[in-house]
Amino acid sequence: MARAPFELAGVRVAPGARAQIDVPVAKLYTHAPLHIPVEVIHGRQSGPVLLVCGAIHGDEINGVEIVRRLLRSSAVRGLRGTLIAVPIVNVFGFVQHSRYLPDRRDLNRCFPGSEAGSLGSRVAALFREQIVDLATHIIDLHTGAIHRTNLPQIRAQLAPGGETEAMAMAFGVPVILNAELREGSLRHYAQGNGVPVLTYEAGEALRFDEWAIAPGVRGVRRVMRSIGMLSSDRRRATPPAAEVANGSSWARAPIDGILRPKVRLGARVGKGELLGVVADPFGNVEGEVLANADGIVIGMSNLPLANEGEALFHVARFDAIEEAESAIETFQSDYESLPEGLNLK
Ligand SMILES: [Zn+2]
Repeated sequence: MARAPFELAGVRVAPGARAQIDVPVAKLYTHAPLHIPVEVIHGRQSGPVLLVCGAIHGDEINGVEIVRRLLRSSAVRGLRGTLIAVPIVNVFGFVQHSRYLPDRRDLNRCFPGSEAGSLGSRVAALFREQIVDLATHIIDLHTGAIHRTNLPQIRAQLAPGGETEAMAMAFGVPVILNAELREGSLRHYAQGNGVPVLTYEAGEALRFDEWAIAPGVRGVRRVMRSIGMLSSDRRRATPPAAEVANGSSWARAPIDGILRPKVRLGARVGKGELLGVVADPFGNVEGEVLANADGIVIGMSNLPLANEGEALFHVARFDAIEEAESAIETFQSDYESLPEGLNLK
């Protein structure tokens, strides 16, 4: 029996075809209609339905470029199953260079949403009904918030031996955070429905970080191979090592002032180690930012201006810290040939 077409927002995509679909999401109060842009690649053979989406936070644009490269790559042409690629979910925020929706809501706290709710709630409900609920697997692409950067990392709720864990390991970035699910997030909603979902966090908002984009594209393709959407390539059968963190915490500014960081992203630090110094502009008063645990710096502020208590360095803890350190060294050497490489440690 011939494989059925794939239907999204009333558009039918035949097996072996691809289509760009503008899903109507709302009208601006100027009367201009607004759409979520979607590309569907419907394979000739049956398989998983993978949703890859970016910019749920409108200013997190590395994921937009990851989706573009994925769609242009020859690998996806002969895929099994169906790829739903959504480069920009929060179209409002993307236009405004903002994480949020115009009503200042965080779309990633609005799921499952409601058709009768506020703007955020309606956009979440529409995205969920028209797109998310079609997926059997999800990869949600994020970056650090504005002025914050993240070491490429996967966040997922891991159950040993589960499909989410297999996807997380397959992605092949050095750090996996077994992160708790936040109420209202896409991840919370999907995982609650038994759909395995990864969040890829890498780089900084409003930037194109090549060291975050290139491994993101490779990671999505590796996951597609691991769930049977792409043929396995023997040479690349084993993904690079990844280490699961057993927790993380932020080291915060001890006083108001100007930060001079002493470590870089990816650095291994010991408990009590100096991460940075915060000082007033004259240097009269200085406060030390110290690591509160042994671990790896997986996120940090790129803005040297800090108020007391502000989160500056995100340190992940590991049972196997040596393995985590060597996974990061391998990652670093894999990408050091990039024109703008990840300058770790
Ligand atoms: Zn985000």
